[in-house]
Amino acid sequence: MNMQNKEVYNFQSEVKQLLHLMIHSLYSNKEIFLRELISNASDAIDKLRFESISSPDLYENDRDTQIQISINKEQKTIIISDNGIGMTRQDTIENLGTIAKSGTKSFLESLERNNKKNELIGEFGVGFYSSFIISDKVSLRTRFAGSPHNTGTLWESFGKGEYNVSDIVKKTRGTEITLYLKKEENEFLETWRIQNIIKKYSDHITVPIKIQNYDEKNKTYSWEQINKAQALWTLNKSSINEHEYKDFYKHLTNDQNDPLIWSHNHVEGIQEYISLLYIPKKAPWDIWNRDHKHGLKLYVKRVYIMDNAEEFLPNYLRFVKGLIDSNNLPLNISREILQDNRITQNLKKALVKRSLNMLSKLSKNDPKKYQIFWNEFGLILKEGPAEDSKNINLILNLLRFTSIKNNSSEQNMSLKKYISEMSKDQDKIYFITADSYISAKNSPHLELFHKNNIDVLLLSDRIDEWMMNYLIDFEGKKFQSISKEDSSLSKITKEKKIKNDEFPKEIINFLKNVKKILGDRVKDVRLTNRLTDTPCILISDSNEMTTQMAKLFSAAGQSVPDLKYIFEINPKNNLIKKICSISDTIELNEWIQLLFDQSLLSEKGNLDNPHEFIARMNKLLIK
Ligand code: ADP
Ligand code: MG
Repeated sequence: MNMQNKEVYNFQSEVKQLLHLMIHSLYSNKEIFLRELISNASDAIDKLRFESISSPDLYENDRDTQIQISINKEQKTIIISDNGIGMTRQDTIENLGTIAKSGTKSFLESLERNNKKNELIGEFGVGFYSSFIISDKVSLRTRFAGSPHNTGTLWESFGKGEYNVSDIVKKTRGTEITLYLKKEENEFLETWRIQNIIKKYSDHITVPIKIQNYDEKNKTYSWEQINKAQALWTLNKSSINEHEYKDFYKHLTNDQNDPLIWSHNHVEGIQEYISLLYIPKKAPWDIWNRDHKHGLKLYVKRVYIMDNAEEFLPNYLRFVKGLIDSNNLPLNISREILQDNRITQNLKKALVKRSLNMLSKLSKNDPKKYQIFWNEFGLILKEGPAEDSKNINLILNLLRFTSIKNNSSEQNMSLKKYISEMSKDQDKIYFITADSYISAKNSPHLELFHKNNIDVLLLSDRIDEWMMNYLIDFEGKKFQSISKEDSSLSKITKEKKIKNDEFPKEIINFLKNVKKILGDRVKDVRLTNRLTDTPCILISDSNEMTTQMAKLFSAAGQSVPDLKYIFEINPKNNLIKKICSISDTIELNEWIQLLFDQSLLSEKGNLDNPHEFIARMNKLLIK
């Protein structure tokens, strides 16, 4: 063969790591190499079809795109070739020698320690490198569509530490991959075996996949097409079965799990489009990464345009997978044009509604399945109220919470249920936000509600405080934080307003002392009847920033003004009664500081000076 400019390169270290892991952990599922290579070939043909809309020359007068597979039993090779877009020499080095995804390194490291390697690595998308599970050596010949024949590239590797690249002549455009099978992999030399794998994984590839048959009698070769090569979404809903929908999902997403639900729609009228939306069962490994790509696969009049078109779904629905095939968008659409396009906006509106309605239907018809969804994606959906005020009512109905009465940390209570269980006098939805479920559940703010048998939503996800800012009311009931002052509370608790002159002189004197000692560290000091067991508590003024909000701000590196609380004291508490009777002013002073710090600790979960607090407590304990 005529080769020139041969150069040897080392794989990027992440690639070496991935190769090693894959060969050892995916061995039981090695047939997936074919799915990966066919998927790449099909992508390359999609890209060619798309690029040739503006540059028809790329077709080189051959519009008959296909994927061909041939097996050579004597040489123990499988050849997979496509006449797609192909690669330049530089492309092969970048695409087949490195992994561009960020977060790969930490993902691979976490994988080393995990014993569910197979599942996780499958989720990651093993791609081209999976060919080394069954091959000793892989040779790839490729030429970029529309370029001269002498610009071909040969890429070869034994899948160890290095690969080499040379220039070759390649007459046909596209990519041809030769797998030199390992000794023990003879099963893949059987045509029926290869056919079965294609049926299993790649039936919905829209490009024809052909396999070469050898006729022993006539000693002739012929090509046989094995997949349907039909775009599933264009078919009538009634002609597609559940199994086909699920297979198509797997092909679309690389997710090995079945989807939870889907919604397939052919829409006619001014806007003509087909959408096929899926809700996954499991979040992809990188959904929280900054550069996670989401969005739908975009087709225009059946022609593939792009992956991850984010323009059709808001961020808070980034877990929705699927495709949109529009008849109205122009074929030569670019991302830039897509962004401020009226058709896109209208499609987005419709798809958001579809997604939310699909979830809403699921929540009504199959609460168990909905719970799977909520546990996996609830945190993302919670971004909805802030991002999409227009659909707030649909979103509110989809939110799930835990509460006092729920008695478990699982978020499975809808607002509808909360409201349906309220007493007639209650006209607000009460909630508390805290750092953890345990901390919310044990907050002294709840004592009054326990006593009066009023349920309170317990919120402890990081996003909750922020989300609650956007929740104003639900079915006419206002949301109310119970760590904030709330004058309407006395109405439903039927407690009399506390009057200072009903209490003994010592208590009133004590109150004055507290005010004097704490000075302007507090907004006010007063007696309360909201507590049962706790001696004292801090309340935020109704128009003041809450503790959780202040924490969010400072975690984001923003400066927050010192929060000033209302300090409430429980006059019926035994400790308070005891402290009231202390006559030594120095000791009384110490006790007041301690009570205040205790309340701060309970409210914030930490203190600015914990050592002072401990020293003071120890001093008082000795006494
Ligand atoms: P992924 O498909 O997820 O990007 P792969 O490891 O499967 O990852 O492939 C890496 C890259 O190599 C592809 O993104 C593509 O750019 C290139 N590539 C692989 N196979 C082909 C092919 N048959 N034709 C053109 N490019 C290819
Ligand atoms: Mg791939």
